[in-house]
Amino acid sequence: MILDPERPRALNGQAPDVFRKGGWVPMRMYPDDEPVDFAIIGTGAGGGTLACKLASAGFRVVAFDAGPFWRPLEDFASDEKEQQKLYWKDERIIAGDDPIQLGANNSGRGVGGSTVHFTMLTPRFRPEWFKARSTLGYGVDWPLEWTDIAPYYGAVEEMLQVAGPLTYPWGPPRPRYPRRAHELNAAAIVLTRGCEQLGIPWSQAPIATLSSPRGLAHPCVYRGFCVIGCSTNAKQSVLVTWIPRAIEAGAEIRDLAMVGRIEIDASGRAAGVHYHREGAWRFQKARHVVVAGYSIETPRLLLNSACTQFPDGVANRNGLVGKYLMVHSNQGIFGEMEDEIRWYKAPPSLALTEHWNYTDEGKDFHGGYLIASQGPLIREWAIKVALSKGLWGMDLRREIARYNHMAGLKIVGEVEPREINRVELAEECDELGLRIPTVTFSYSANDRRLTDHAATFMAQLLEAAGGRNLWLENDTAHLMGGCRMGFTPEDSVADTNGRTWDVPNLWICDGSLFPTGGGANPSLTIMALACRIGDRIAAIAKRGELH
Ligand SMILES: Cc1cc2nc3c(=O)[nH]c(=O)nc-3n(C[C@H](O)[C@H](O)[C@H](O)COP(=O)(O)OP(=O)(O)OC[C@H]3O[C@@H](n4cnc5c(N)ncnc54)[C@H](O)[C@@H]3O)c2cc1C
Ligand code: SF4
Repeated sequence: MILDPERPRALNGQAPDVFRKGGWVPMRMYPDDEPVDFAIIGTGAGGGTLACKLASAGFRVVAFDAGPFWRPLEDFASDEKEQQKLYWKDERIIAGDDPIQLGANNSGRGVGGSTVHFTMLTPRFRPEWFKARSTLGYGVDWPLEWTDIAPYYGAVEEMLQVAGPLTYPWGPPRPRYPRRAHELNAAAIVLTRGCEQLGIPWSQAPIATLSSPRGLAHPCVYRGFCVIGCSTNAKQSVLVTWIPRAIEAGAEIRDLAMVGRIEIDASGRAAGVHYHREGAWRFQKARHVVVAGYSIETPRLLLNSACTQFPDGVANRNGLVGKYLMVHSNQGIFGEMEDEIRWYKAPPSLALTEHWNYTDEGKDFHGGYLIASQGPLIREWAIKVALSKGLWGMDLRREIARYNHMAGLKIVGEVEPREINRVELAEECDELGLRIPTVTFSYSANDRRLTDHAATFMAQLLEAAGGRNLWLENDTAHLMGGCRMGFTPEDSVADTNGRTWDVPNLWICDGSLFPTGGGANPSLTIMALACRIGDRIAAIAKRGELH
């Protein structure tokens, strides 16, 4: 069943069954002119999870996504070029001293959001990061505690059936992961060898791909196509976990539906959303609106929704919408090994060390980073080599011919939250007439000390494992912040429940809420936060206070 990029699939009371070729599941539908309880914009780690939680709590939910409703078993090719279709590729302007490369490496478009092509690493955050300012002396505190999030980590790991080690060397004691860890591939063994030589702990990665069958989904077959979308459903993305359960619980998913503006009524409350679907603008009435479009599209939508009551953008009275944008620094080190590694086999990162997340001594910087083993696909590798080493022609061919002997490491490095790193509106508009975002980013002096430290340490590690002719790549991964949560209407856009300070029935539920980013991949924490927000909303409603 070939996808027509203009024609939504979730229509006429049914949605694609992601587990059966050509199959459908029944889906409840809501008319535009009857207010639903919640209109959620975005169906990724934050929005997809929340849609499931709220529908399961009995709320009438419509969740919109600008991208398609993929059928992984039919739509996903083992072809890097074809799979570019998964990324958010709309024009965006990048600025700052260190402009962020956007697209494949940080944002997806489609039901399930960026988790459809994420690498599936699911580490928990270090408890102290939720109080980074008061316990570690940098960044800011989150308006919630580790103990508020911890139970939800367990619930999300269960939903994703995370495969992981029996004991994890870092963080508070934890129960075993739901599924057994995956065997290490050769690329991961390189990391373990280096760590053992340097005397630091390593671990099998906690990773959201199946190590044994789950219903109709097969276990991982180690073909390594994860970052271009998993065609076997072993990957436990939001598309195959929270979304089918959300639909079963009564949520409607509206695919290929781009929300362009949130309507604010005369009393200053959100009244619904204007969205573009099947060639026309429509309006969905809603009692509550949740924005979950990730760190660029969430602020962009709020800013694009400027109106008489909010001339500088909705929920932006303090001017903080779009500010404190963060990435993870993602420096990589690569080297040639004597043995054949064939690093493309299996998910890219099967081993990691969080040593520098949990060790504070001996650092000349604040924050932390984890190091994970790598396995780029050949096209991605060729682009990296051409751009980072400036090679072309026969020199490039010679370098690429060594692909099967290469190994590498990359960090997920903490970056300071700084007001100057931001999302704003450019003057230019997209084809729907919506102003496009300008994304400005520069590393701080502390961020650079962290990446310098990581570069030196990773070089030692890879050399200790037998790597030769090492070279370094500068990169970033993940987005966070841009609409951060906080303690007061002066220091943040939303409160601890994701409710915006300025509009009582407007909420945010995605990575843009993060006040700090830690040195670990963010999705598990985004989903845990979404579960908590879902429970908080249900509790507020139960008290009769959800107005
Ligand atoms: C290559 C890659 C590898 C990654 N690896 C990992 C990893 O190993 N571990 C990890 O934890 N994280 C990883 N991530 C990051 C992770 O995927 C994101 O942090 C996470 O998905 C963000 O969740 P979110 O809900 O904030 O946004 P998303 O999941 O991106 O969801 C946002 C959704 O909103 C939709 N949307 C946006 N604006 C609108 C609008 N106006 N109208 C309608 N729909 C809209 C988008 O189409 C999108 O589907 C990776 C990301 C990438 C790209
Ligand atoms: S390696 Fe496993 S998770 Fe990755 S694409 Fe293949 S089956 Fe899916």
